[in-house]
Amino acid sequence: MKVLIIEDERKTADYLCQGLTEQGWTVDVAHDGIDGQHLAVNYDFDVVVLDVMLPGLSGFDILRSMRAVKNTPVIMLTARDGVDDRINGLREGADDYLIKPFSFLELLARLQALTRRGRAQEQTLLRVGELSIDLIRRKVVRAGQRIELSAKEFALLELLARHQGEILTKTAIAEMVWDMNFDSNTNVVEVAIKRLRAKIDAPFTSALLHTIRGMGYVLEERDGA
Ligand code: CA
Repeated sequence: MKVLIIEDERKTADYLCQGLTEQGWTVDVAHDGIDGQHLAVNYDFDVVVLDVMLPGLSGFDILRSMRAVKNTPVIMLTARDGVDDRINGLREGADDYLIKPFSFLELLARLQALTRRGRAQEQTLLRVGELSIDLIRRKVVRAGQRIELSAKEFALLELLARHQGEILTKTAIAEMVWDMNFDSNTNVVEVAIKRLRAKIDAPFTSALLHTIRGMGYVLEERDGA
């Protein structure tokens, strides 16, 4: 999941960024209205967290320019006494709002609800051979055995499973799971693949995660493998 946080209060923005990153989300942050609008309008996110009071442009200005071009879910952050803000926000097309101060878990629950709504038509359970991945409960099971994954391992497995049978290059994986431009000096993808393989393949009789030398990785069930 890719989220854009538009919030001028550095402490709040950093805290949200850290919390969501730990949950395996990919996070972009803008600290003022101009930057925020630029990112929100020109790039694709699964959800946007939008503060109302911002330097440059207000949250409402950003929401208006976003709504002219896209339907990305937006949750607005409003002041405790900002009743008008909440009404205006919903009228301008915000999907939800949170009153400051709010707990991180509350925000996370709302974000999950919004992104789930956006994906209502999508599959919530992916299957690759005897491996099943429940995207809502974030539960991975192979041959009846529950497998515990870290947030990044889960994101990596979800990506591979959504593209099962397709070869994904290291560059593509690095961009989509770590939001980084692949630097050939880092082995972050290899390390994560190795850890994932140790959990989803090593304890079982057949391999699902395959290395295609010089090309990348593919997740698929192979006959007689
Ligand atoms: Ca603010």
